[in-house]
Amino acid sequence: MIDNYSWRTPLKNLVLFLLPWVIIGYLTDHFLLSMVIALTWLVGWHYYHQWQLFVWLWRTRSLTPPVANGAWATIFDGIYKQQKANRKRRRQLGDLIKRFREGAQALPDATIVFDHENTIIWSNKLAHQLLGIKNSDVGQRLNNLIRNPNFEQYQKKGDFKEPIIITSPLNPQSLLEIRIIPYAEQMLFIARDVTKLKQLENMRQDFVANVSHELRTPLTVMLGYLEMMEEPEHTPPAMIKKAIDEMSQQTVRMRDLVEQLLVLSKIESGGEEVFKQTVNVASMLSVVQSETSSLNAVKGHQISFDIDNDLIVYGSETELRSAMSNLIFNAIHYTPDGGTIAVSWKRTKEGALFSVSDNGEGISQKHLARITERFYRVDKARSRKTGGSGLGLSIVKHVLARHYSGLKVSSQVGKGSTFSFTLPNNMIPEKDQKAS
Ligand code: ADP
Repeated sequence: MIDNYSWRTPLKNLVLFLLPWVIIGYLTDHFLLSMVIALTWLVGWHYYHQWQLFVWLWRTRSLTPPVANGAWATIFDGIYKQQKANRKRRRQLGDLIKRFREGAQALPDATIVFDHENTIIWSNKLAHQLLGIKNSDVGQRLNNLIRNPNFEQYQKKGDFKEPIIITSPLNPQSLLEIRIIPYAEQMLFIARDVTKLKQLENMRQDFVANVSHELRTPLTVMLGYLEMMEEPEHTPPAMIKKAIDEMSQQTVRMRDLVEQLLVLSKIESGGEEVFKQTVNVASMLSVVQSETSSLNAVKGHQISFDIDNDLIVYGSETELRSAMSNLIFNAIHYTPDGGTIAVSWKRTKEGALFSVSDNGEGISQKHLARITERFYRVDKARSRKTGGSGLGLSIVKHVLARHYSGLKVSSQVGKGSTFSFTLPNNMIPEKDQKAS
C-alpha cells in the first residue's frame, strides 16, 4: 500500500471526491454551493481525523490506532508501525541495560559511575557496603561522600594509571584500593577491600625481616669466634674451648629455628590428613615425658602427668606431638627452678582436653593476645637465652586450627599459666566415644 503511494494518490483521491460534487453543481446549477459543501465536508473530515490522531497520541496512549480510511488510514498505520518498532527497540534496550546493571551488581568490587562534574550517576550494592553510598546519593558529589585528602589529591592530579589505597570512610581499620577508569563522558570508580592483602604483605615482610634477624645474631657470633681462631697460636686454649661451645650452641639454635620454620611451612601448606589416622596420645606423651626429664635436669621442676591411657584421637601424630611438647617445654623454660608443672590429657563433655599448668612467671594481659604471633616473645633476650625462637606457640595455633581446636591461655603474672585445648568429640573415634 505504501509502496505504490505517490504524490498522485492524494491528487487522484481529491479528484475522485470532487467529481460527483462538480457534476451535481452543474446539474443543479449551484456549482459554488456544491463546492462549498464538498470542501466543508473535506475539511471537517480532515479535522475529525486530526482530532482522532491527537486523542490517540496524547490521551489514550494505546498502541491500537483509531479506525480510519483513505489517507488517514495510511498515516495511522505508519505511526502504529513506528510506535511498535520503537517499543520493541526500547524493550530490547531496557533488557540490555538491566543485564548490564545486573552484571555490575554482581561485580566483586564496589562500583560507582560518576561524571566529570564529580556527580554520582549510579552505584552498586557493594559500594553501599564498602563506602556507605546509597541509591539516594545519586546526584551528590563524590568527594562530599568520600572525604579523604589523598583521594582528592589523586582526583586533582588526574593520573589514574596506578590505583590508590585509602582508609575506608566507614571503617578506619579497613584499607580500600581505588581505581578510576575514564570512559566515554563518564568515570568508573572501582574500590576493593585490600585490608587482608596488605596484612598478608606486612606479615610476609615482617617474617622475612624476623628470620633474617634471628639468623644474623648467631651468624655474627660465629663469625667473631672464627676470626678469633684464625690465629690459634695467639688464642688461649680456654678461649678456644669457649668458642667451640658457643658456636655449637648457636648452630643448634639455627638448626632448631630452621626445623621450626619447616614444621610451620609444612602445616601451613596443608600437612597430613587429620582424619586418616588415629593417635595414641598416651604412648606419644610417654616419649615426650622422657625427653622432658633430661630438659628438666637443670630446672628441677616437679612435673606430674595425669594421662587417660585409653583416650585415642584422630589427628596427625607429628603435629600433635609438636604442639603438646611445645607447651610442656615452654612451661619448663618459663617457670623458675623448682616449680610445679601439671600435664593432663583427659576426656570431658566437650571432647579430649589437654592442659599444661605451671606456677611460673605468668604472662600479662597486654602480651596474652599476641603470644601466638610468629616471633612474638614477651622478653626477647630471655627467650633467646632459653633457645626460644618465638615460633612455638604459632606452630601450636596452626596445628590446633587443623585439628578443629584452639589454644586457651589463662595466666596471672607471678602466679603461673595454664595452656589448654580441647579436641572436639568428632575427633574421638566412635568406639572410644562409647567406651568412655
Ligand atoms: P619461644 O620460642 O620464645 O618460647 P613461643 O611462641 O613458644 O616462643 O612463646 C611465645 C612467648 O610466650 C614466649 O617468649 C614467652 O614469653 C611466653 N610464654 C610461652 N609459654 C609460657 C609459659 N608457660 N609461661 C610464661 N610465658 C610463656
